[in-house]
Amino acid sequence: MQTLENEIAEKILSKKIEKKEAIKLFDGLSETDKLQLITKIKSKLLDATSLTKSSRISASRLKPIDQRDLEDRHRAYIKELAKEYQKFVPKSRENIPKNHFHFVDQRRNFHLIKEIKKMHFQITYEKAEGAYVHDIDGNKYIDISGDMGVNIFGHKPPFLVKALKEAIDRGIPLAGYSETINETSKIISELTGHDRVLFTQSGTEAVVVATRIARAATNKKKIVLFDGAYHGLSDNVMAMRDMQGNSLAAGPGMLQEFADQIIVLKYGDKESLDFVENHSDEIAGVLVEPVQSRHIYNKPIEFLKELRNITIEHNVPLIFDEMITGFRVGPQGAQGVFGVLPDMVTYGKIPGGGLPTGVVVGSSEYMDLIDGGTWEFDDDSMPKSKRVGMGGTHSQNPLKVAAAYATMNEIKKRTANCQSCSVFSNQCEGLYCKLNNRTTRMVEELNSYFLENNLPITIDHFGSLFRFRYIDSYWGITEALMFILLRMHGIETNIQGNCFLTTAHTDTDIKKVIAAVKKSLKILIKEGFFYEVKIEEIASVTDKPGDAKPIATGTTASKHVTNIDNSQIQKLKEHLISDLKRFDQ
Ligand code: PMP
Repeated sequence: MQTLENEIAEKILSKKIEKKEAIKLFDGLSETDKLQLITKIKSKLLDATSLTKSSRISASRLKPIDQRDLEDRHRAYIKELAKEYQKFVPKSRENIPKNHFHFVDQRRNFHLIKEIKKMHFQITYEKAEGAYVHDIDGNKYIDISGDMGVNIFGHKPPFLVKALKEAIDRGIPLAGYSETINETSKIISELTGHDRVLFTQSGTEAVVVATRIARAATNKKKIVLFDGAYHGLSDNVMAMRDMQGNSLAAGPGMLQEFADQIIVLKYGDKESLDFVENHSDEIAGVLVEPVQSRHIYNKPIEFLKELRNITIEHNVPLIFDEMITGFRVGPQGAQGVFGVLPDMVTYGKIPGGGLPTGVVVGSSEYMDLIDGGTWEFDDDSMPKSKRVGMGGTHSQNPLKVAAAYATMNEIKKRTANCQSCSVFSNQCEGLYCKLNNRTTRMVEELNSYFLENNLPITIDHFGSLFRFRYIDSYWGITEALMFILLRMHGIETNIQGNCFLTTAHTDTDIKKVIAAVKKSLKILIKEGFFYEVKIEEIASVTDKPGDAKPIATGTTASKHVTNIDNSQIQKLKEHLISDLKRFDQ
């Protein structure tokens, strides 16, 4: 299987070509191919590092093929699968051409791979209940898409249906208040430990408002955020970090002038702490997704604690974006789990109970900048001058408020007697302890299976948020096919990658998820979508007796797992990228 990147990688590693030539070849590759090349060189270097150690063990491991590795037998399988898939979801397929002329949807191109594009479409749902979604073809799926993180009680929990039906019956007047708006804010304040609560229409807006408050409070301009995070659609927080650490506008239509006000630092890195400390006089706020949903394995608790100390010391507002982790990993979200209290937190998803929302919470010091703070009717108090612009026709939409009230009440009720739900110790039968425990058990079982079968896959999780990760490979055809097969085995996921368990998932559902993952992977192995690579691995000196895991069937050499943690891999990757980019220097 000799692809262009393999050839280039070999030439570079064996130093058969001059640096100049290597750069030329590298520059000629597409961005994806560049990434593949770097991944290949990195894994060869890692293997080479292992070889330098004394106790070598010959072994092999599985690697997924990607679209450039397709052979006739793979193409034949894909063709058959596409036919089966067409029979499986004909009405959903039929619904696409009807939909997609008038209906513009960027998501349909997400992770699109030409060779399997016949199967690349969203199915059309008919209904959803509990842990299940049903499509218009009569298929029923266990839904682990979690509605992109919104869903924690399963579909249509009775308490929510009741609240929403009653709200609809009352009509949807927008100008005044809903009866429960104050109580909903109070519950959110109690659960999160922050004084004041503001509703917005979306998560994006919550982040816009929080950063605006930070700028208004400090009279400074720059917002620090971290590589790998996502904070919604606003130009205000969308920038990429280049090799030299500059912020670049994230795409067409986004102005560099906005990106110039954003500083993108490396997440979890000591240098980033130093940067914040040394540039605090220009930093209006630090915005953090404490556990980035796209890099769940990275949970830099000590970094966050230190960041909190520095931001307090230098009077820089710290904002946590807990859009996904908020009310997901515990009533206090990641801030509760890590024991780090920021100045403001942005939420969305779960508090909306299935309806669009965003929420900003924070101390009065910051939140008063929205409405001038509290004042009394019966004395001569007045709001302090209002400085921060805020609006939103639907920010306090009564349907949303009814859903938020019902959801927050349910969380309050189901965590009331649990001391550990909020600190993630998983010791009781409260809502989060139970849900998080159940997810851990599922993830551990699947991760053991991957390890035992020598599959280069792992599932990262944080509470009931989890994500499949193909180690050492960017999204390729094998990974894409796994998700198609999962669907055909009755499991609905989300193309964007984040998966979630809800309280509606039973142990039986989880067993079915596990079985479907195993079945899908067995098919892919059988059809040749994973290939065995011979490597030399070392028994790590830190391995304790009994740590070694059994090998995949079919191999004869004894196998140990090389202990390389993700931060090391990430660092190596970054070094390689910057090395290749600066090859000619
Ligand atoms: N921040 C984070 C961490 C998110 O994951 C998202 C969306 N998933 C947002 C902000 C934006 O939220 P919304 O899509 O509601 O605008």
